[in-house]
Amino acid sequence: MIERTLSIVKPDGVAKNLIGEVVRRFEAAGLKVVALKMVRLDRGEAEGFYHVHRERPFFASLVAFMSSGPIVPMVLEGEDAIARVRTVMGSTDPAKAGAGTIRKDFASSIEKNIVHGSDGPATASFEIGYFFSALEIPPR
Ligand code: GDP
Repeated sequence: MIERTLSIVKPDGVAKNLIGEVVRRFEAAGLKVVALKMVRLDRGEAEGFYHVHRERPFFASLVAFMSSGPIVPMVLEGEDAIARVRTVMGSTDPAKAGAGTIRKDFASSIEKNIVHGSDGPATASFEIGYFFSALEIPPR
């Protein structure tokens, strides 16, 4: 099924000059970039994005990290886009990520792991709407 999903080059990925590398890997995996921008979240905006994690012990640290610098959210489209993006990203913890994944190759910790990808259709819908208005995304 053709899906859309949200990915983000996180602040560590932008700082390490990996925007192009992340986009290249997604494109090489057959995904199409249909929207993309650079933004900087304030604390409240990062809390809103990660509200499902608000009870987790790492929430405050994650929010501080995600609001620490510019990020590059993008909407990716393709066959099974949600799962495909997560395969290209690799496991949350880079120590457990498979060879050739973005996180294995570039992440420095379980938190500073370069890239985000929606984990399901409902999450993708919420997350795309969090960053992009209808006018910024081409109709399907
Ligand atoms: P993802 O879907 O692979 O991004 O992982 P999760 O949805 O479980 O977690 C969201 C984000 O929170 C991760 O990408 C990390 O940046 C961060 N995170 C996850 N687990 C931990 C943890 O145990 N400690 C810290 N400090 N951050 C974490």
